[in-house]
Amino acid sequence: MHLVTLIKGDGIGPSIMDEAVKVIDASGAKIQWEEAHAGLGAHEKFGTPLPEETMASFDKTRVAFKGPLTTIVGTGFRSINVALRQKYELYANVRPAKSWAGVKTRYDDVDIVIVRENTEGLYAGLEHYLTPKKDIAESLAVVTRSGSERIIDYAFKYARENNRKKVTVCHKANILKYTQGLFLDVARETAARYPDIQFDEKIIDAACMHMVMNPQQFDVVVCTNMFGDILSDLTAGLVGGLGLIPGANIGNDAALFEAVHGSAPDIAGKNLANPTAVIMAGAMMLSHLGEQEAAERVVKAVEKVVNEGKYVTPDLNPQSKAGTIEMGNAIVDAME
Ligand code: NAD
Repeated sequence: MHLVTLIKGDGIGPSIMDEAVKVIDASGAKIQWEEAHAGLGAHEKFGTPLPEETMASFDKTRVAFKGPLTTIVGTGFRSINVALRQKYELYANVRPAKSWAGVKTRYDDVDIVIVRENTEGLYAGLEHYLTPKKDIAESLAVVTRSGSERIIDYAFKYARENNRKKVTVCHKANILKYTQGLFLDVARETAARYPDIQFDEKIIDAACMHMVMNPQQFDVVVCTNMFGDILSDLTAGLVGGLGLIPGANIGNDAALFEAVHGSAPDIAGKNLANPTAVIMAGAMMLSHLGEQEAAERVVKAVEKVVNEGKYVTPDLNPQSKAGTIEMGNAIVDAME
């Protein structure tokens, strides 16, 4: 039995997480869920967006399955997502984007894994006003050699272990010579230790154009925090949207699994949210827990339902009458 901290989150979170839990429970994996709270809902209920009990649960389980959290704006709270990633040193954010046979997009052969540095860069949280009038603001990007080494090594190891051929580092070392320059130096040094994996480097702006025009040339992509955040939404767009992309946040002794998308307040409470991304994140969690067979069962069932396009949410098929709950039920029914 694996003990997992379950945070359903805000907005569409509870509805998509209910479907994901239903699917994972039906996969044959033995998971004991320990429910905890975070985000706007927790702030309203407990007076803090990240209650002690939630941290205590994650301290114990070291594995969390999380719905999206609404970022509280203008109250002095930092993003809870960023706080969790930094506290548990969840340094590798892995976001795979793969074309689906049944989802029509510009390309049918995209298969890109973004490996994003998750704890430093411009999201290190070092931001302030320089003047009392608050008319000059400053953000500091922090890039360390050790932080760069562990994420870039993770990307190459991931490529090797998952039969991938190539790692591309996307950077802006031509302008940001120290922070991005350090990251690029480490990428070149690391690449030399993985002669079996092809290495490429691209400047981030050109990389965006190449990714839109010829995404097939990308395989595993590694970059600093903000570039990875932006690029992974771009890859989401290439394969059918945010409702399809899962994310794993991996550290040395803790891991947190979630969708790439946010709490989508515009569609919350309407049974419209696509549960695919969190269910696929659940499959990544099952693999992480060593429940490989259950993970494959979940992925196959999701693929069947998404590719058939019948019991899917309207973002995938505007003609569909199905919503979040019907799609979750169809995935459970499709499980072998
Ligand atoms: P969002 O990802 O919530 O929504 C962007 C667009 O995509 C919306 O039109 C939404 O309806 C659509 N969308 C997102 N998920 C979908 C799904 N599963 N099915 C169908 N459509 C979907 O981004 P946003 O509106 O910029 O952010 C809303 C809130 O979420 C903000 O408070 C933001 O800070 C937070 N956020 C949280 C996380 C996280 O918890 N990991 C990630 C991103 C944003």
